[in-house]
Amino acid sequence: MAYDFDLFVIGGGSGGTRCARIAAGHGARVGVAEERFWGGTCVNVGCVPKKLMVQAAEYGAWAEDARGFGWDMPRGHHDWPRFIAAKDREIDRLQGVYRTLLGKAGVTTFEARATFLDPHTLEIGGKRVTAANIVIATGSTPHKADIPGAELAGITDDLFYLPQRPARLAIVGGGYSAVEFASIFAGLGSEVHLIYRQPLPLRGFDHELRQALAENLLAQGLHLHRGVIPTHIALDGVCDAQRRVHLSDTTELAVDYVIMTTGRIPNVASLGLDRAGVALNAQGAVAVDAGSRTNVAHVYAIGDVTDRLNLTPVAIAEGHALADTLFGGQPREASHENVPTAVFSSPPLATVGLTEEEAIRRGPMDIYVTRFTPMRHTLTGRHGRRALIKLVVDQKSQKVLGAHMLGEDAAEIMQGIGIALRMGATKQDFDRTIGIHPTAAEEFVTMRTRTRVAAAAEAAE
Ligand code: FAD
Repeated sequence: MAYDFDLFVIGGGSGGTRCARIAAGHGARVGVAEERFWGGTCVNVGCVPKKLMVQAAEYGAWAEDARGFGWDMPRGHHDWPRFIAAKDREIDRLQGVYRTLLGKAGVTTFEARATFLDPHTLEIGGKRVTAANIVIATGSTPHKADIPGAELAGITDDLFYLPQRPARLAIVGGGYSAVEFASIFAGLGSEVHLIYRQPLPLRGFDHELRQALAENLLAQGLHLHRGVIPTHIALDGVCDAQRRVHLSDTTELAVDYVIMTTGRIPNVASLGLDRAGVALNAQGAVAVDAGSRTNVAHVYAIGDVTDRLNLTPVAIAEGHALADTLFGGQPREASHENVPTAVFSSPPLATVGLTEEEAIRRGPMDIYVTRFTPMRHTLTGRHGRRALIKLVVDQKSQKVLGAHMLGEDAAEIMQGIGIALRMGATKQDFDRTIGIHPTAAEEFVTMRTRTRVAAAAEAAE
């Protein structure tokens, strides 16, 4: 049977766009459908506008820091609407870049929702389209905790379009987005309440790093409501623009805005997956093998909709590997091991490889930790800027299994450390590397004295 396309991609986000472009470059006839915005979550309501907000939030503190270096700079006022307009212009530009890249690659684009009619046929904005291979790259969508008054809370998407910056903000959730937005709004001058169920934010990250970040956030004056959940949200009796958030420890918070960052769910609803026979896993994500194959031979899924490692570079790597496999004569799988990642909190943290808690399940580990005040802040005196650098080293092989950093420039530094871990670097390789002085990064290659030995029984809770 002749199909309209060799490959059809549902979703023009990070993974889908890369997969479509590379496949077209290999000579395939490719179509892609996007129902909302080209570039997907990352470009429009994720990594990119979030990082611009992180940068916006840094300037106020820098103006104050400058005083320690002899400058007399007033902190001044932040013009939120002006910043949002500038951010929107940049996002519009990036959407155009995505559209152009697809057009130049010869991909046929559809600006509509795609749904399966049968395993090889899609309906897209009233048109029927057939394809030999189909890739599901529909991403994920925010999920709000089901509590009374949840409709009074926003989701992370909303924060990118607020007409005014809330003076008092409650953020429900302890994941990386929660922590990032807490730092952003605190940096811009809002009173921030971070509400999370665990004793520490950032479950899944190295325990010592989580602790050090929480200490910094507290020292900066953020309100951390740990070990609690919101029981309900209500309108303020006096002013309807305000919200009252009731917590399980009976605390009641009066705020101007509430957001819930209580998880994301894979975008599978109303895709018609049942008509294609595509199976989901127990968590409701599209079930795939290491090669992004679903249970249906010619249907694949990449990125957040598979809920493997929900990061843009991972979605891109999966899409690229799949296109090379199907049309480039280079069968390969995207690696999910030693993926460096960062949390753009203030200060940021970044990590690659295993946490101490994960590593000790493999055997005894040599742990190297250093904590310090970055040189800049010896003069600024700013609170909540303590840095922490940590290496988790397998005692037997001396291979570095995990590298972790909390501190300014952590994300920029960790990218290079990620190469070392991917190459299997040992502690001796780190020790033989000459440091760049004076930097924070040099601590990674100058930690000579082991802080402790960690074994399973001593694992942190
Ligand atoms: P997406 O980029 O979400 O793309 C899916 C696309 O499919 C969407 O555009 C959607 O409109 C479209 N779609 C859905 N259903 C259909 C349909 N039926 N028909 C047509 N189109 C459809 N990752 C990082 O690496 N670094 C970060 O700093 C970072 N920060 C983040 C901050 C926030 C607030 C959020 C929410 C996420 C962040 N992420 C970050 C995660 C990152 O955005 C995602 O991992 C990435 O976008 C996943 O790419 P994807 O291609 O799987 O899905």
